[in-house]
Amino acid sequence: MDNVLSILRQKNFVTKKKFGQNFITDTNLLDAIVVDSGIEEGDTVVEIGPGAGTLTRAIASKAAEVFAFEIDESLSPVLGETLRGFDNVKVIYRDIMKVKPDELKDIVKKPFKVVANLPYYITSPVLFYFLENDFPLISLSVMVQKEVALRMIAAHNTPDYGVLSLAVQSRARAEITRHVSRKMFFPEPNVDSAVVKLSIHEGIKNRKTFDKLVRAAFSCRRKTLVNNLMQSMGLSREGAEELLTKAGLDLKIRGEALSKEQFLHLADLIEK
Ligand code: SAM
Repeated sequence: MDNVLSILRQKNFVTKKKFGQNFITDTNLLDAIVVDSGIEEGDTVVEIGPGAGTLTRAIASKAAEVFAFEIDESLSPVLGETLRGFDNVKVIYRDIMKVKPDELKDIVKKPFKVVANLPYYITSPVLFYFLENDFPLISLSVMVQKEVALRMIAAHNTPDYGVLSLAVQSRARAEITRHVSRKMFFPEPNVDSAVVKLSIHEGIKNRKTFDKLVRAAFSCRRKTLVNNLMQSMGLSREGAEELLTKAGLDLKIRGEALSKEQFLHLADLIEK
């Protein structure tokens, strides 16, 4: 199997920074990502950004079918070559952020797993797209820059804890399965990466209120929760203070000090 550099050379493909094209050069890493993601025979997989198709090939060797969304249509000659003979792969040349959730469900039709080496410039929007829409999602295994991985798994009372941590942890069990050096990519980015696996669990109650509350709590990180609730959720001072008192929370507490469970409890109280 040709490695990614010779594939790109053969097709005279020049990588594009604007699309976050940092391709994996290490073949062992490709297989390791597939192992980490727990892909099994019979699985349906959605991949974001197949690039030169080397990770896609590794996924398709294991899964039943792969839907790969690629924004850059000029990769078509490259993908035509690398994916020749892989009849279980469908490449869709679309910006994933412009694919409406219902459209994606119609295309894929089955419960699915996401596997991707995500482009850095849209990591968070892609994560929120999959987490906040009602997809029949089983798991999501993504290569992201290390800082984002740390935010995804962060605990409360740490600087990395925020909206992304709670969006992830309220929907999934999250673990970093692998740390990856920047040297494993071409071109080499100026950050290291990590693979994070999210195993989606049962939904929580009061999802909308929870999400709104979390965004409000972190809208201004240095402000107290009371002030953020007043400013971003339109509560009066008395209303916000009454809510925190009912929840047994200090009136001077900041959002970053609240655990996921405390946010869930608050969302419950707001609903009541
Ligand atoms: N999967 C390949 C690999 O691991 O070597 C390439 C990963 S590269 C980090 C990200 C890929 O996502 C690129 O192929 C890029 O063109 C594609 N991409 C960037 N933005 C996209 C978007 N909005 N929708 C779909 N694909 C996108």
